Amino acid sequence: MCGVVGLYSSYKAPLAEEAYLALYALQHRGQNAAGISWIDGNGDVCSRRGAGLVHQALDQNELAEIDCHLAIGHVRYPTAGGDSPRNAQPLAVHSSSRGAFALAHNGNLTNGETLRRRLEAEGAIFQTQTDSECLLHLITRHGGDSFHQSLMASLEDLKGAFSFVLIRPGQLIGVRDPWGVRPLCLGRRENVWYLASESCAFDLLGAAFVRDLLPGEVITVDERGLHSDFQKRKPQRRFRCAFEYVYFARPDSVIDGVSVYESRVRMGRRLAQECPCRNATLITGMPDSGTPAALGYAEGTGIPYKGAIVRNRYSGRTFIEPSPRARALGVRKKLNPLRSLTEGQNLAVIDDSIVRGTTGVKICRLLRECGARQVHLLISSPPVKHPCFYGIDTPDRNELLAAGKSIEAMVSYLGVTGLGFLSKEGLAEAIGLPQTELCTACFDGNYMEDGQ
Ligand code: AMP
Repeated sequence: MCGVVGLYSSYKAPLAEEAYLALYALQHRGQNAAGISWIDGNGDVCSRRGAGLVHQALDQNELAEIDCHLAIGHVRYPTAGGDSPRNAQPLAVHSSSRGAFALAHNGNLTNGETLRRRLEAEGAIFQTQTDSECLLHLITRHGGDSFHQSLMASLEDLKGAFSFVLIRPGQLIGVRDPWGVRPLCLGRRENVWYLASESCAFDLLGAAFVRDLLPGEVITVDERGLHSDFQKRKPQRRFRCAFEYVYFARPDSVIDGVSVYESRVRMGRRLAQECPCRNATLITGMPDSGTPAALGYAEGTGIPYKGAIVRNRYSGRTFIEPSPRARALGVRKKLNPLRSLTEGQNLAVIDDSIVRGTTGVKICRLLRECGARQVHLLISSPPVKHPCFYGIDTPDRNELLAAGKSIEAMVSYLGVTGLGFLSKEGLAEAIGLPQTELCTACFDGNYMEDGQ
């Protein structure tokens, strides 16, 4: 998973530092690398990219001095192409056919490897291991009188999940795939236009949220204003990622008209109806992502909520640690129960998802060591049984706890008193979008290639 931003100022206000700040707001979408590209006064693309978090990869003071009014940025969470720093985006090119341009991508192309083989056979030399680079080569190769025409033709070759931002001299372009898998939205502050994966980036910049890009939409901003166009492909249904609402997006974002925070509270309320834990004496949430659903669950059951698990604010994501030992240690470093709240309690612990089960096993053991009598683990999404091919880092099927185990087997593996999951119908209702608009492939294996 990744995050992208794009900025355009018709009054030529310098924007590179704002790009940095927007990426800072999207840090949760990728911690492996960050980068910014802009168009300089000569119409060339310049870039800064680096490994790690935004403040490690980029120098805010340097960016504050740069005079550019057209920029894009990217935070990377490696799901395609590995985590080498050379895969940091944006990707920039100076081509004789299409001039200077740069692009950044959120999502995964399901035909990325096929496209790459085809392009390499035609003589393309790839600089990175990313699937995103395919679009760059396609644009330089497709005929057509204008950049826009070759972009539109190139997009027809792509399959899977793609929200792209692009810049070229005088233009900022935003693209959302026809299935609407990954979010992308438009914001504005006076004469500056913004594109961002999530609306929380606009809040930091003091910009107003204008709207989400529609599935299949291509928005171009230039000196004539804003223009909207649509890709040729018109799928029968949408596949907006349900996991953005469950876990991935920030709670203060609004995606496709739905507040992420409110949807998580509704997931918790619905979980209270579907899996009421009558003998629980205290509700708690796995911080941070389980907290809104825990509040909803407490509201739904009338059982008091307390924050009985404390999260170390300086801890990053344990999920992406490479080995089981590092992940388990990571959970211990990140989470710690508050003994005064857990002692003697029958706890209902609400978490947003179980993937490998690392967090569940570890935290249940810790809660028991801290005096909890019972630990019921309740999950505000269905069991994750299938890998994601569209950009969420859910691993191979054999690593997914729920793929190979019944509820009883999971109860004994996790060492919990009870275990419950939200239904797929409950999840769709809590999000508030029809099931035919949502991608729930990680829960039910209905991939979009089978159903479009
Ligand atoms: P696990 O410990 O493997 O069961 O992972 C589940 C926990 O990791 C949940 O508490 C989520 O908050 C978090 N999580 C779920 N999916 C992801 C993901 N793709 N990347 C990072 N964290 C995740």
